[in-house]
Amino acid sequence: MRRLSLLCIVLLLLLTGCSVSEPCRRELMAMDTFMTLSVYAQSPAAGEALLEEAAGEIRRLEGLLSVTDPGSEIYQANHGGAVSLSEPVRELLEKALELCRETGGALDVTVYPAVRAWGFTTGEYRVPEEAELSALVERVGYGRVALDGDRLALPEGVELDLGSVGKGWTGDRLTALFREAGVSSAIMELGGNVQALGTKPDGSPWRVAVQAPGGGYAGVLEIVDKAVVTSGGYQRYFEQDGETYIHIIDPATGRPARTGLASVTIVADSGLQGDGLSTALFVMGREKAEAFWRGNPDFDFILLGEDGTAAITEGLEECFSLYGGWEGRPLEIIRK
Ligand code: AMP
Ligand code: MG
Repeated sequence: MRRLSLLCIVLLLLLTGCSVSEPCRRELMAMDTFMTLSVYAQSPAAGEALLEEAAGEIRRLEGLLSVTDPGSEIYQANHGGAVSLSEPVRELLEKALELCRETGGALDVTVYPAVRAWGFTTGEYRVPEEAELSALVERVGYGRVALDGDRLALPEGVELDLGSVGKGWTGDRLTALFREAGVSSAIMELGGNVQALGTKPDGSPWRVAVQAPGGGYAGVLEIVDKAVVTSGGYQRYFEQDGETYIHIIDPATGRPARTGLASVTIVADSGLQGDGLSTALFVMGREKAEAFWRGNPDFDFILLGEDGTAAITEGLEECFSLYGGWEGRPLEIIRK
């Protein structure tokens, strides 16, 4: 009997590859992106059970938020239904609308009709005519989304897309799930979002790489209990007639945001805030992003310019360094 249980434990370790010193890991495709969850748990069994729960939560949120799945609450609202939102969607929408307001509409969760017109939702890319775009921009405006308790009914023509904040929100929920289970060390990669719980098991900070626009890495961040979220033009784009069109849309014009930035990385306590702001600051461009940060200094950011320049806010001075091909380039520090 003893032998059998020992065999079971060895088999479990072989299957999961996790132990007290090795994290339990799970890789999955969800929310249109590749995700990796790594958790240091009290036992392999506890780690595996947590990862199972986390994967279930990701699938559940994906099912609620999807713009293409007819079963999702967002899909139903976008197709003219009055929907009673479930708790996570209501909370996410409320917080996302707050970020839309704070960023003066640079983040706008109703920009979906324009995103779709460029083909970013289906991959059937096209460049819309000016007249089509100006008609679509008429339908964009987060201020027209009114929540009555948990009831959401969108005005005619208005459509929601929480894709700019969904992964950050998911990271926050998984962090809470792991924390409640007593985990003090976990790292999650949800597409361009990294979310760290605590430190590495040895007490040292997590090292998170910041991607270089042309491939490889531009820098490394050392963080504890932070979300690191990047929005970059290189993450999704298409080319036509020598022009590049990226997936981040300026809600004021309905056109891809072109502000000279290659990427914006936000370092914040919350994944949702980081996710919303990475998209918003990309749309704002450097000057407005700096002004916004001076008025709302509860986060930090890294800007990589299309011209190969790099700038960080002063809070990252001690924990960010340029890396690889970017090492040795000037790094500008943005101060208050
Ligand atoms: P992210 O990758 O977090 O920067 O979010 C970009 C995604 O959000 C895009 O693929 C669009 O689906 C959507 N989106 C694009 N531009 C905006 C915007 N200005 N505000 C809100 N969502 C946007
Ligand atoms: Mg975002």
